[in-house]
Amino acid sequence: MSTPAATVPDLLDYDEVLERFDPVLGLEVHVELNTLTKMFCGCPTEFGAPPNSQVCPICLGMPGSLPVVNGKAVESAIRIGLALGCDIAEWCRFARKNYFYPDMPKNFQISQYDEPIAISGEVELEVEGQTFKIGIERAHMEEDTGKSTHVGVTGRIHGAEYSIVDYNRAGIPLIEIVTKPIEGTGALAPQVARAYVAHLRDLMRALDVSDVRMEQGSLRCDANVSLRPLGETAYGLRTETKNVNSLRSVERAVRYEMCRQGALLAAGGKVMQETRHWHEDTGITTPGRSKEQAEDYRYFPEPDLVPVAPSRKWVEELGTTLPEPPAQHRKRLFEAWGFTEMEFRDVIGAGALLLVEATVAAGATPAAARKWWLGELARRAKETEVELDALSITPAQVAEIQALVDAGKINDKLAREVFDGVLAGEGSPEEVVAARGLAVVSDDSALGAAVDRAIEANPDVAEKIRGGKVAAAGALIGAVMKEMRGQADAGRVRELILERLGAE
Ligand code: ADP
Ligand code: MG
Ligand code: ZN
Repeated sequence: MSTPAATVPDLLDYDEVLERFDPVLGLEVHVELNTLTKMFCGCPTEFGAPPNSQVCPICLGMPGSLPVVNGKAVESAIRIGLALGCDIAEWCRFARKNYFYPDMPKNFQISQYDEPIAISGEVELEVEGQTFKIGIERAHMEEDTGKSTHVGVTGRIHGAEYSIVDYNRAGIPLIEIVTKPIEGTGALAPQVARAYVAHLRDLMRALDVSDVRMEQGSLRCDANVSLRPLGETAYGLRTETKNVNSLRSVERAVRYEMCRQGALLAAGGKVMQETRHWHEDTGITTPGRSKEQAEDYRYFPEPDLVPVAPSRKWVEELGTTLPEPPAQHRKRLFEAWGFTEMEFRDVIGAGALLLVEATVAAGATPAAARKWWLGELARRAKETEVELDALSITPAQVAEIQALVDAGKINDKLAREVFDGVLAGEGSPEEVVAARGLAVVSDDSALGAAVDRAIEANPDVAEKIRGGKVAAAGALIGAVMKEMRGQADAGRVRELILERLGAE
């Protein structure tokens, strides 16, 4: 199964890949629903509980136990299907997908196979000003598996000393959303893949059906990638890179697979149809298992569950609970914020649309919200390699920091230190300002003394100002700022300098 790093093939240069090949993508996204209880039993679903504390005979697959469908999960599945523009099945069934794995206590997973609840949808994305239509093949309901931890140096099953299993996750409701093959993305394939997953994440959040935390695994993406020679219509053989757990990784994994497959094909070799593992740390994929065929799973209709037949009336009612469609939402914000197209695109590209929106809702101007999220905060997210929305600061706190700037309590430079404090968990912006002593000094006695010292230390500059060269005041303001570690009220300092030198 896993192969040592020595066999990792060479990569073809990305531009060369595109000169010779056309990428085709297929994205399978698993969304863990935020229902209070599991898919087929009443166990709680809370994340992070002690191992095996949220289990019962049903989700442990004890003989004689019987599953019952979670109505709320079906409701969420229908709303997701509708939001993806899918048709909702009038009648569908669950199916048993049989395979053996220790984290799956029943030795089968209850899923849906040829009768999914939602089929044939479409989502529209914008990437670098280009519009892409992504066909949705289906969205189906299933249950999650438990979680194995392989203890040993590799952290993988091979080379593990022993493995432990936590069944808390077994039976958590999942919706799997599968795209039709995505063609025509060319050089933008990695970015389209990323934008699609970001789009689903935002959509699930707007629907309030999942907490979509990629780092906690409540949104997971498997990325299928194949290449075909330019001009060819038949698809090439694909690989499926499993569980790519951040937006950035989606983009990197697709790009890596394109370059890896490109090298193989260019050398006259063949791509193996297989699953692969993504390695966040090294940025490469390694082979997993060779791909099973559907027959290997011996699917058959789940005999312990009745079919799901949502009434048209219910589906229609659920249709009225959908959030504003993302394209319309973007258009509305674009018009409201008054950004240039370029500025707006950058906000979307940074995955900051909802963050900026929430920051504006909390009272900041669009320009200020954009400035912090795309500047200071984007830089920090990049440094710590997390997504923007995983930073431990809320839009309301960003708005609060901007309000402190607007009120003259802090300046932009001090605001950066407030960001440091909030991100380090030191409390609210107000608390950080107080605890770190960051407030701007505008008190005349403190400022006046510093101004006097600056004048004394720079007699030539002072002389110029006295002589009417007011522009020279900048140098003295700088000196005062330096002495007061940036915490002086610059406007007031300027007034004091001019006053003292009689140069108003
Ligand atoms: P599997 O059971 O192998 O996971 P699925 O049908 O669930 O198969 O998902 C396969 C995904 O890959 C779908 O999104 C599909 O559109 C896509 N796909 C199928 N063939 C290719 C191909 N040759 N290249 C890239 N993607 C493909
Ligand atoms: Mg699949
Ligand atoms: Zn249970």
